[in-house]
Amino acid sequence: MRTSDSSGLHQPGDQRQGDQRFLLATLPPGAGQTRLAAGTVLGLLAALAAAAPFARLPLDGTAVLLPAYATAVLLTELMTAVLLFALYATQRTPALLALAAGYLVTALLIVPWALTFPGVFAPTGLLGAGMQSTAVVAAGRRIGLPLFFLIYALLKAAESGPREAHRPALPAIAGTMALAAGLAGGLMVLALAGDAVLPRLMADTMREAPLWRVVPVTALALCAAALAVLWRQQRSVLDLWLMVVLTAWAIETCLLSFISGGRFSAGWWSGRIFGLAASSVVLLVLLAEMTTLYGRLVRSVAAERRVRDARLASLEALSASIAHEVNQPLASMVTNAGAGLRWLDRPSPDLVEARAALRRISDDGHRAARVIACIRATFRKAPPERRRLDVNGVIQSALDRTEGERRLNRIALRTDLQQRLPPVNGSPVQLEQVLLNLIANADDAMSTVTDRPRVLSIRSRRHGAADILVSVEDTGTGLQADHGERLFEPFFTTKEHGIGMGLTICRSIVEAHGGRLWGDANHPQGAAFRFTLPADDEPERPAAEAVLERPPLERTPLERMQ
Ligand code: ADP
Repeated sequence: MRTSDSSGLHQPGDQRQGDQRFLLATLPPGAGQTRLAAGTVLGLLAALAAAAPFARLPLDGTAVLLPAYATAVLLTELMTAVLLFALYATQRTPALLALAAGYLVTALLIVPWALTFPGVFAPTGLLGAGMQSTAVVAAGRRIGLPLFFLIYALLKAAESGPREAHRPALPAIAGTMALAAGLAGGLMVLALAGDAVLPRLMADTMREAPLWRVVPVTALALCAAALAVLWRQQRSVLDLWLMVVLTAWAIETCLLSFISGGRFSAGWWSGRIFGLAASSVVLLVLLAEMTTLYGRLVRSVAAERRVRDARLASLEALSASIAHEVNQPLASMVTNAGAGLRWLDRPSPDLVEARAALRRISDDGHRAARVIACIRATFRKAPPERRRLDVNGVIQSALDRTEGERRLNRIALRTDLQQRLPPVNGSPVQLEQVLLNLIANADDAMSTVTDRPRVLSIRSRRHGAADILVSVEDTGTGLQADHGERLFEPFFTTKEHGIGMGLTICRSIVEAHGGRLWGDANHPQGAAFRFTLPADDEPERPAAEAVLERPPLERTPLERMQ
């Protein structure tokens, strides 16, 4: 008997599609993203328009290489600063702000450095630069980066207690950005306007003055100090890579200041490669780390959704199972109650029959309670009560319970039960549930058949060395080839008032008993559902008990009246 529709049918593939919603490669862009992309394209077009008038100017190698190098450094350091600010927004450690500020200052300083470099855009540099301007800006960069790294390391070493999670991140980020821009801008103005009073770092446009040595020595000392502080404390992945950056920065400093032959020499250019490496390392590490974390996040969100959906599905399945399984005893109780009332309503009430009807109602009530207990145990994954059973006894009990329905539907019964089968170890209530479901399905499948006899055949056999095979065959409408294994999926039904839980429950019960359940075509017509159960051949235990948890069924009064 079925009571609800199949609106809960699960669509395979829904889950996978749901997971895709989190992936960058499949995520639809929002309005903000689209505006940003359009802005980027406009920016590129503006850059093209600005560059076009100069496109035909002949340039020598240096005039090309140096701005290209500066652009690469500017972009990587800016991106690193942005990612570090983003990291601060989630971690709120002041140390990260210092590090982001360091990258922002050095990124901004590379612009005046390239513009004022003598012989690149103009023989003495742009912006009215003097001979010391580029060197002062370069000194700011060279000393600035390890100085901010050292501040980061010291702040991190001093970090204790809870982070500033309660403070809003945006004002702190905006403030730090303003400070970094002020620092870089101030140094630039000083380098441009104060050329006359600035210390003589350059002897001429190509060679450094002896005073320049102070800059690399200070930078190297700061590198060493920052490395030492980072070394001594408990390091993160970021710290490890910052140590690599400091090493590359120190190598670049040595190459540029002590080994190279001055500006534009081979040593000077190779120092630039170390500089580029130094500015890219943190960016690459942050990007790699974020991609990995993003992947992990997508997977864990998807897993969480699956767990939630599974929980919902099992709740749905639990309620559907209870509805499905309890309907049968409920229907029987209603029938018996009606019959009992009729026995009492007679001119001379038949109390014996009425009492028998009440006993059957009570039996059915107990049976419903046992079914619910079994279903709950199945969903809790608690092992159900098991004992040694005679399969033929279980089959007989199920046939007795369904005899009335068969008679109503004019279904002939054929039984072919092998005698002296070994017992099986199982739950009598659950195995009877399996048979009742298969028999009810067979009855349903034959209810529309009018051109041939309606026959239900039940067989039991020894199957191989270790199993017992039970078959429930009918001459009904048969199974549709394209349904295949879907018959066993929860909520799959082709019946107007079906729930689609019967075969799902049957399979899970049989499999929990160590057996297998499958559907087949019956010849020449109809369907056959077969299941195996492992035989319990242990000789020393007592003989199998027949499973009749209540006294053998009498025919109901209603049935006798018919
Ligand atoms: P329900 O009976 O609520 O539909 P089941 O899980 O018991 O749920 O059955 C699922 C589907 O399997 C049925 O809707 C029907 O299409 C098919 N089915 C089951 N048993 C038979 C059978 N004996 N003959 C034909 N089709 C069957």
